[in-house]
Amino acid sequence: MRRTALVTGITGQDGAYLAKFLLEKDYKVYGLIRRSVRHAFENLEYLGVDREIEYLNGDMTDESSLIKAVHQTRPDEVYNLAAQSFVGASWEQPHLTTQVNAIGVLNLLEAVKLHAPRARFYQASTSEMFGNSGREGLQTEDTPFHPRSPYAIAKLYAYWIVVNYRESYAMYCVNGILFNHESPIRGKEFVSRKVTDGVARIKLGLNERLHLGNLDSQRDWGFAGDFVEAMWRMLQQPEPKNYIVATGETHTIRELVEVAFRRVGIEDWEPHVFIDPAFKRPAELYTLRGDNSLAQRDLNWQPRVRFKELVEMMVDADLKRVEAEIASGRRPTGG
Ligand code: NAP
Repeated sequence: MRRTALVTGITGQDGAYLAKFLLEKDYKVYGLIRRSVRHAFENLEYLGVDREIEYLNGDMTDESSLIKAVHQTRPDEVYNLAAQSFVGASWEQPHLTTQVNAIGVLNLLEAVKLHAPRARFYQASTSEMFGNSGREGLQTEDTPFHPRSPYAIAKLYAYWIVVNYRESYAMYCVNGILFNHESPIRGKEFVSRKVTDGVARIKLGLNERLHLGNLDSQRDWGFAGDFVEAMWRMLQQPEPKNYIVATGETHTIRELVEVAFRRVGIEDWEPHVFIDPAFKRPAELYTLRGDNSLAQRDLNWQPRVRFKELVEMMVDADLKRVEAEIASGRRPTGG
Protein backbone atom coordinates (compact mmCIF):
# COMPACT_ATOMS: atom_id res chain seq x y z
CA MET A 1 0.00 0.00 0.00
CA ARG A 2 1.09 3.57 -0.70
CA ARG A 3 2.61 5.08 2.46
CA THR A 4 1.30 8.40 3.72
CA ALA A 5 3.10 11.30 5.33
CA LEU A 6 1.74 14.40 7.01
CA VAL A 7 4.19 17.30 6.79
CA THR A 8 3.80 20.52 8.76
CA GLY A 9 5.78 23.53 7.54
CA ILE A 10 5.35 22.23 3.98
CA THR A 11 5.65 25.72 2.48
CA GLY A 12 9.05 26.29 4.07
CA GLN A 13 12.47 25.36 2.74
CA ASP A 14 12.66 21.90 4.30
CA GLY A 15 8.97 21.19 3.73
CA ALA A 16 9.44 21.66 -0.01
CA TYR A 17 12.60 19.52 -0.24
CA LEU A 18 11.07 16.81 1.97
CA ALA A 19 7.84 16.75 -0.06
CA LYS A 20 9.88 16.29 -3.25
CA PHE A 21 11.90 13.50 -1.65
CA LEU A 22 8.80 11.67 -0.34
CA LEU A 23 6.92 12.02 -3.63
CA GLU A 24 9.90 10.48 -5.41
CA LYS A 25 9.52 7.56 -3.01
CA ASP A 26 5.85 7.35 -4.00
CA TYR A 27 4.40 8.58 -0.70
CA LYS A 28 1.02 10.23 -0.57
CA VAL A 29 1.97 13.61 0.91
CA TYR A 30 -0.39 15.73 2.98
CA GLY A 31 0.78 19.23 3.81
CA LEU A 32 -0.51 21.40 6.63
CA ILE A 33 -0.88 25.05 5.69
CA ARG A 34 -2.09 27.96 7.74
CA ARG A 35 -4.82 30.22 6.60
CA SER A 36 -3.50 33.43 5.17
CA VAL A 37 -4.64 36.03 2.71
CA ARG A 38 -2.08 34.82 0.16
CA HIS A 39 -0.54 31.38 0.28
CA ALA A 40 3.17 31.21 -0.26
CA PHE A 41 3.69 28.23 -2.55
CA GLU A 42 6.85 29.56 -4.23
CA ASN A 43 9.15 27.00 -2.64
CA LEU A 44 6.95 24.09 -3.72
CA GLU A 45 6.57 25.62 -7.16
CA TYR A 46 10.32 26.14 -7.41
CA LEU A 47 10.80 22.39 -6.91
CA GLY A 48 7.84 21.57 -9.15
CA VAL A 49 5.81 19.67 -6.54
CA ASP A 50 3.06 22.12 -5.54
CA ARG A 51 0.31 20.25 -7.42
CA GLU A 52 1.14 16.78 -6.12
CA ILE A 53 0.41 17.54 -2.47
CA GLU A 54 -2.93 17.40 -0.72
CA TYR A 55 -3.27 20.43 1.53
CA LEU A 56 -5.04 20.66 4.87
CA ASN A 57 -5.69 23.80 6.84
CA GLY A 58 -4.27 24.02 10.33
CA ASP A 59 -2.08 25.95 12.70
CA MET A 60 0.36 24.63 15.29
CA THR A 61 -1.25 26.85 17.92
CA ASP A 62 -4.72 25.43 17.26
CA GLU A 63 -4.93 21.92 18.68
CA SER A 64 -8.36 21.17 17.22
CA SER A 65 -7.10 21.80 13.67
CA LEU A 66 -4.21 19.40 14.25
CA ILE A 67 -6.51 16.74 15.68
CA LYS A 68 -8.68 17.08 12.59
CA ALA A 69 -5.70 16.88 10.23
CA VAL A 70 -4.33 13.72 11.85
CA HIS A 71 -7.78 12.13 12.07
CA GLN A 72 -8.46 12.85 8.42
CA THR A 73 -5.12 11.59 7.10
CA ARG A 74 -4.14 8.80 9.56
CA PRO A 75 -0.54 9.12 8.40
CA ASP A 76 2.20 6.49 8.63
CA GLU A 77 4.75 9.23 9.20
CA VAL A 78 4.47 12.74 10.62
CA TYR A 79 7.19 15.32 9.99
CA ASN A 80 6.88 18.37 12.20
CA LEU A 81 8.81 21.09 10.40
CA ALA A 82 6.53 24.03 11.22
CA ALA A 83 8.11 26.73 13.33
CA GLN A 84 8.81 30.38 13.81
CA SER A 85 12.23 29.47 12.50
CA PHE A 86 14.19 32.70 12.65
CA VAL A 87 16.33 33.05 15.78
CA GLY A 88 16.55 36.84 15.48
CA ALA A 89 12.76 37.24 15.45
CA SER A 90 12.44 35.15 18.60
CA TRP A 91 13.69 38.05 20.75
CA GLU A 92 11.05 40.28 19.18
CA GLN A 93 8.25 37.69 19.43
CA PRO A 94 9.20 35.35 22.27
CA HIS A 95 5.63 34.48 23.16
CA LEU A 96 4.59 33.59 19.62
CA THR A 97 7.83 31.62 19.16
CA THR A 98 7.06 29.62 22.31
CA GLN A 99 3.45 28.98 21.31
CA VAL A 100 4.42 27.66 17.87
CA ASN A 101 7.75 25.97 18.55
CA ALA A 102 7.02 24.48 21.98
CA ILE A 103 3.28 24.24 22.72
CA GLY A 104 2.55 23.57 19.04
CA VAL A 105 4.63 20.40 19.23
CA LEU A 106 2.72 19.24 22.29
CA ASN A 107 -0.53 19.91 20.39
CA LEU A 108 0.62 17.80 17.46
CA LEU A 109 1.89 14.95 19.65
CA GLU A 110 -1.48 14.84 21.40
CA ALA A 111 -3.26 14.69 18.04
CA VAL A 112 -0.99 11.83 16.93
CA LYS A 113 -1.42 9.99 20.23
CA LEU A 114 -5.20 10.19 19.81
CA HIS A 115 -5.62 9.30 16.15
CA ALA A 116 -2.42 7.75 14.80
CA PRO A 117 -0.46 6.41 17.78
CA ARG A 118 1.55 4.04 15.58
CA ALA A 119 2.66 6.82 13.27
CA ARG A 120 6.37 7.61 13.26
CA PHE A 121 7.01 11.17 14.37
CA TYR A 122 9.90 13.41 13.34
CA GLN A 123 10.63 16.64 15.21
CA ALA A 124 12.77 19.38 13.65
CA SER A 125 15.19 20.03 16.50
CA THR A 126 18.13 22.33 16.12
CA SER A 127 21.81 22.82 16.90
CA GLU A 128 20.80 26.15 18.44
CA MET A 129 19.83 24.14 21.56
CA PHE A 130 23.55 23.68 22.27
CA GLY A 131 24.39 27.36 22.46
CA ASN A 132 28.15 27.65 22.94
CA SER A 133 28.33 24.30 24.67
CA GLY A 134 30.58 21.50 23.44
CA ARG A 135 34.23 20.60 23.70
CA GLU A 136 36.27 22.71 21.28
CA GLY A 137 33.07 23.77 19.57
CA LEU A 138 32.14 20.23 18.53
CA GLN A 139 28.67 18.95 19.44
CA THR A 140 27.52 15.34 19.73
CA GLU A 141 24.15 13.85 20.77
CA ASP A 142 25.50 13.85 24.37
CA THR A 143 26.67 17.46 24.53
CA PRO A 144 24.77 19.35 27.26
CA PHE A 145 22.25 21.88 26.00
CA HIS A 146 22.58 25.57 26.81
CA PRO A 147 20.07 27.42 24.63
CA ARG A 148 20.77 31.13 24.14
CA SER A 149 17.62 32.49 22.48
CA PRO A 150 13.85 32.25 22.99
CA TYR A 151 13.86 30.18 19.76
CA ALA A 152 16.31 27.63 21.12
CA ILE A 153 14.57 27.48 24.51
CA ALA A 154 11.21 26.72 22.87
CA LYS A 155 12.89 24.08 20.69
CA LEU A 156 14.41 22.52 23.81
CA TYR A 157 10.95 22.11 25.34
CA ALA A 158 9.87 20.44 22.08
CA TYR A 159 12.91 18.16 22.17
CA TRP A 160 12.10 16.92 25.66
CA ILE A 161 8.37 16.52 25.12
CA VAL A 162 9.15 14.36 22.08
CA VAL A 163 11.49 12.21 24.20
CA ASN A 164 8.84 12.09 26.89
CA TYR A 165 6.11 10.84 24.53
CA ARG A 166 8.50 8.16 23.32
CA GLU A 167 9.21 7.06 26.90
CA SER A 168 5.69 7.51 28.29
CA TYR A 169 3.57 6.11 25.48
CA ALA A 170 6.02 3.95 23.53
CA MET A 171 5.43 6.13 20.49
CA TYR A 172 8.06 6.14 17.72
CA CYS A 173 9.25 9.74 18.12
CA VAL A 174 12.63 11.14 17.14
CA ASN A 175 14.47 14.43 17.22
CA GLY A 176 16.68 15.30 14.29
CA ILE A 177 19.17 17.81 15.68
CA LEU A 178 19.95 19.60 12.47
CA PHE A 179 22.73 22.08 11.97
CA ASN A 180 22.28 24.95 9.53
CA HIS A 181 21.19 23.87 6.10
CA GLU A 182 20.60 26.09 3.14
CA SER A 183 19.47 26.05 -0.47
CA PRO A 184 18.32 28.42 -3.20
CA ILE A 185 14.94 28.59 -1.40
CA ARG A 186 16.32 29.49 2.03
CA GLY A 187 14.46 32.49 3.53
CA LYS A 188 16.18 35.80 2.76
CA GLU A 189 16.34 36.71 6.45
CA PHE A 190 18.99 33.99 6.98
CA VAL A 191 22.58 35.06 6.51
CA SER A 192 23.49 32.59 3.73
CA ARG A 193 20.66 33.70 1.44
CA LYS A 194 21.01 37.31 2.49
CA VAL A 195 24.58 37.15 1.22
CA THR A 196 23.87 35.28 -2.04
CA ASP A 197 20.86 37.46 -2.90
CA GLY A 198 22.77 40.61 -1.91
CA VAL A 199 25.79 39.64 -4.02
CA ALA A 200 23.55 39.00 -7.04
CA ARG A 201 22.00 42.46 -6.62
CA ILE A 202 25.40 44.11 -6.29
CA LYS A 203 26.67 42.28 -9.38
CA LEU A 204 23.65 43.43 -11.39
CA GLY A 205 24.01 47.00 -10.20
CA LEU A 206 20.87 47.18 -8.05
CA ASN A 207 22.61 47.56 -4.68
CA GLU A 208 25.98 48.75 -3.50
CA ARG A 209 26.46 47.19 -0.12
CA LEU A 210 25.59 44.24 2.08
CA HIS A 211 24.83 44.91 5.76
CA LEU A 212 26.10 42.10 7.98
CA GLY A 213 26.77 41.36 11.66
CA ASN A 214 29.68 39.30 12.93
CA LEU A 215 31.87 38.03 10.06
CA ASP A 216 33.85 35.77 12.38
CA SER A 217 30.91 33.61 13.51
CA GLN A 218 31.41 30.06 12.36
CA ARG A 219 28.68 27.73 11.20
CA ASP A 220 28.33 24.20 9.94
CA TRP A 221 26.34 24.71 6.73
CA GLY A 222 24.88 21.85 4.72
CA PHE A 223 22.44 21.47 1.83
CA ALA A 224 18.72 21.12 2.67
CA GLY A 225 18.25 18.54 -0.10
CA ASP A 226 20.75 16.23 1.65
CA PHE A 227 19.39 16.86 5.13
CA VAL A 228 15.76 15.90 4.42
CA GLU A 229 16.93 12.44 3.41
CA ALA A 230 18.35 12.02 6.92
CA MET A 231 14.93 12.93 8.37
CA TRP A 232 13.30 10.13 6.38
CA ARG A 233 16.03 7.66 7.31
CA MET A 234 15.46 8.38 11.01
CA LEU A 235 11.89 7.13 10.65
CA GLN A 236 12.96 3.85 8.95
CA GLN A 237 15.03 2.49 11.86
CA PRO A 238 14.16 -0.47 14.11
CA GLU A 239 14.30 1.82 17.20
CA PRO A 240 13.61 5.54 17.58
CA LYS A 241 16.69 7.59 18.47
CA ASN A 242 17.82 11.22 18.27
CA TYR A 243 20.44 12.09 15.68
CA ILE A 244 22.70 14.99 14.85
CA VAL A 245 22.67 15.89 11.17
CA ALA A 246 25.58 18.10 10.16
CA THR A 247 28.46 18.27 7.73
CA GLY A 248 31.10 18.36 10.48
CA GLU A 249 32.86 21.26 8.74
CA THR A 250 32.72 24.88 9.81
CA HIS A 251 33.18 28.04 7.81
CA THR A 252 33.07 31.68 8.82
CA ILE A 253 30.61 34.19 7.45
CA ARG A 254 33.66 35.89 5.94
CA GLU A 255 34.37 32.74 3.88
CA LEU A 256 30.74 32.63 2.77
CA VAL A 257 31.00 36.24 1.61
CA GLU A 258 34.30 35.59 -0.20
CA VAL A 259 33.02 32.54 -2.09
CA ALA A 260 29.83 34.35 -3.08
CA PHE A 261 31.59 37.47 -4.40
CA ARG A 262 34.22 35.41 -6.18
CA ARG A 263 31.45 33.48 -7.96
CA VAL A 264 30.31 36.70 -9.64
CA GLY A 265 33.88 37.82 -10.40
CA ILE A 266 34.29 40.37 -7.57
CA GLU A 267 37.60 39.76 -5.75
CA ASP A 268 37.76 43.05 -3.84
CA TRP A 269 34.58 42.53 -1.81
CA GLU A 270 35.36 44.53 1.34
CA PRO A 271 34.09 47.90 0.06
CA HIS A 272 30.74 46.18 -0.56
CA VAL A 273 30.29 44.98 3.05
CA PHE A 274 29.16 47.17 5.92
CA ILE A 275 29.42 45.76 9.45
CA ASP A 276 26.20 46.82 11.08
CA PRO A 277 25.94 46.43 14.88
CA ALA A 278 22.16 46.16 14.44
CA PHE A 279 22.67 42.61 13.14
CA LYS A 280 24.53 41.35 16.19
CA ARG A 281 22.50 38.97 18.31
CA PRO A 282 21.80 39.86 21.98
CA ALA A 283 23.52 36.57 22.85
CA GLU A 284 25.98 35.38 20.19
CA LEU A 285 26.83 31.81 19.24
CA TYR A 286 30.40 31.59 18.06
CA THR A 287 30.94 28.11 16.71
CA LEU A 288 28.57 25.28 15.91
CA ARG A 289 30.03 22.11 14.45
CA GLY A 290 28.19 18.82 14.53
CA ASP A 291 29.59 15.34 14.91
CA ASN A 292 27.51 13.27 12.50
CA SER A 293 29.14 9.90 13.19
CA LEU A 294 26.00 8.34 14.72
CA ALA A 295 23.94 9.30 11.64
CA GLN A 296 26.69 7.96 9.39
CA ARG A 297 26.77 4.67 11.27
CA ASP A 298 23.06 3.98 11.91
CA LEU A 299 21.44 5.81 9.01
CA ASN A 300 24.18 5.27 6.44
CA TRP A 301 23.82 8.98 5.73
CA GLN A 302 26.45 11.39 4.47
CA PRO A 303 26.18 14.96 3.22
CA ARG A 304 26.89 15.14 -0.51
CA VAL A 305 26.99 18.86 -1.33
CA ARG A 306 30.05 20.68 0.05
CA PHE A 307 30.23 24.29 1.25
CA LYS A 308 31.65 25.93 -1.89
CA GLU A 309 29.28 24.08 -4.19
CA LEU A 310 26.34 25.06 -1.98
CA VAL A 311 27.20 28.77 -1.95
CA GLU A 312 27.79 28.78 -5.71
CA MET A 313 24.47 26.99 -6.32
CA MET A 314 22.70 29.68 -4.28
CA VAL A 315 24.48 32.57 -5.99
CA ASP A 316 23.69 31.16 -9.44
CA ALA A 317 20.01 30.75 -8.54
CA ASP A 318 19.82 34.30 -7.16
CA LEU A 319 21.52 35.76 -10.23
CA LYS A 320 18.91 34.06 -12.41
CA ARG A 321 16.06 35.27 -10.24
CA VAL A 322 17.24 38.87 -10.11
CA GLU A 323 17.91 38.89 -13.88
CA ALA A 324 14.35 37.60 -14.43
CA GLU A 325 12.97 40.33 -12.17
CA ILE A 326 14.84 42.97 -14.14
CA ALA A 327 13.77 41.51 -17.50
CA SER A 328 10.13 41.35 -16.44
CA GLY A 329 10.19 45.01 -15.46
CA ARG A 330 9.09 44.14 -11.92
CA ARG A 331 10.60 46.41 -9.33
CA PRO A 332 13.33 44.30 -7.70
CA THR A 333 12.80 43.76 -3.99
CA GLY A 334 15.06 42.91 -1.08
CA GLY A 335 18.76 43.49 -0.63
P1 NAP B 1 11.05 27.88 7.15
O1 NAP B 1 11.47 27.91 5.72
O2 NAP B 1 11.03 29.15 7.93
O3 NAP B 1 9.59 27.22 7.22
C1 NAP B 1 8.81 27.26 8.38
C2 NAP B 1 7.45 26.67 8.07
O4 NAP B 1 6.65 26.67 9.27
C3 NAP B 1 6.65 27.43 7.00
O5 NAP B 1 6.00 26.50 6.17
C4 NAP B 1 5.61 28.20 7.84
O6 NAP B 1 4.42 28.45 7.15
C5 NAP B 1 5.35 27.17 8.95
N1 NAP B 1 4.72 27.75 10.13
C6 NAP B 1 5.16 28.79 10.87
N2 NAP B 1 4.30 29.04 11.88
C7 NAP B 1 3.29 28.13 11.79
C8 NAP B 1 2.12 27.88 12.53
N3 NAP B 1 1.79 28.61 13.58
N4 NAP B 1 1.33 26.84 12.14
C9 NAP B 1 1.64 26.10 11.05
N5 NAP B 1 2.73 26.31 10.30
C10 NAP B 1 3.56 27.31 10.67
O7 NAP B 1 11.96 26.85 7.98
P2 NAP B 1 12.94 25.69 7.44
O8 NAP B 1 14.29 26.27 7.22
O9 NAP B 1 12.27 24.92 6.38
O10 NAP B 1 13.08 24.79 8.76
C11 NAP B 1 12.19 23.70 9.00
C12 NAP B 1 12.24 23.33 10.47
O11 NAP B 1 13.56 22.95 10.83
C13 NAP B 1 11.86 24.47 11.43
O12 NAP B 1 11.19 23.90 12.52
C14 NAP B 1 13.20 25.02 11.87
O13 NAP B 1 13.11 25.64 13.13
C15 NAP B 1 14.03 23.74 11.91
N6 NAP B 1 15.46 23.89 11.70
C16 NAP B 1 15.90 24.52 10.58
C17 NAP B 1 17.27 24.62 10.36
C18 NAP B 1 17.81 25.25 9.11
O14 NAP B 1 19.02 25.51 9.07
N7 NAP B 1 17.01 25.48 8.09
C19 NAP B 1 18.18 24.06 11.29
C20 NAP B 1 17.66 23.39 12.39
C21 NAP B 1 16.30 23.30 12.59
P3 NAP B 1 4.15 29.83 6.34
O15 NAP B 1 4.64 29.58 4.93
O16 NAP B 1 2.67 29.98 6.43
O17 NAP B 1 4.92 30.91 7.03
